[in-house]
Amino acid sequence: MARVALVTGGTRGIGKAISARLQADGFKVAANYAGNSEAAEATAKELGVKVYKWDVGDEAQCAAGIAQIMAELGPVDVLVNNAGITRDGLFHKMNSEKWRDVLRVDLDSLFFMTRPVIEGMRERGYGRIINISSINGQKGQIGQVNYSAAKAGMIGFTKALAQENAAKGVTVNAIAPGYIDTDMVAAVPEEVLKKIIAAIPVGRLGKAEEIAHAVSFLASDGAAFMTAATLTMNGAQYIAG
Ligand code: NDP
Repeated sequence: MARVALVTGGTRGIGKAISARLQADGFKVAANYAGNSEAAEATAKELGVKVYKWDVGDEAQCAAGIAQIMAELGPVDVLVNNAGITRDGLFHKMNSEKWRDVLRVDLDSLFFMTRPVIEGMRERGYGRIINISSINGQKGQIGQVNYSAAKAGMIGFTKALAQENAAKGVTVNAIAPGYIDTDMVAAVPEEVLKKIIAAIPVGRLGKAEEIAHAVSFLASDGAAFMTAATLTMNGAQYIAG
């Protein structure tokens, strides 16, 4: 029977490419989203995946959404924690709302989403947790103290959870993308974007499909010996460890 993959923020950008790829790989895909129903419906139609609306930064909504998916599709075998937001600004001018929003959606969500599925994965002896971090969680970024802290936190979460579940057939890995051509990056001012691209040795932004390719590998049976890893995919913009 086809395994079930749940992709948060799976209706746009990198998440949409991940949903498409896992669907092509033979998974039954559930794609979550926050509020852009138009984009979600278009993705559902285009890819033939089921879409579910809830805020991954809300524990009760995560529990209810996961319960609905389990009832409709079956237990979750692959969880891709991809949904994320930015609320940029220099730290000495940042209000606590921008801090809390980013930490809640980008980091608290890992607890809210992973906690309800991990026990079942352990019992079944198979699971794949894949966390989409960021280059800016590895190197830090001016104007993104909140985002850098959340994305670095995802890497610590990945390493610790991987060790706890290594003997149970459950792998936990992170991917740290560099700048990828999505709506999130389209929001960056053009002049800033030019400078960013000039700093990428490969000479271009990454493609969402390239990140999805790595997710496909991590979700596969062949990746069973890879756990606690952070895959750096940034066109050599930053060479981590
Ligand atoms: P986009 O802004 O293009 O898409 C974000 C997706 O996440 C949408 O489906 C959106 O839903 C969903 N989402 C946002 N907030 C929530 C929420 N609270 N609850 C549920 N779903 C939510 O983002 P990207 O594809 O660019 O980024 C995807 C991930 O990759 C993020 O975690 C980001 O930090 C990370 N990343 C991105 C990089 C880039 O260059 N683009 C670089 C490094 C990391 P809706 O459509 O309803 O708004």
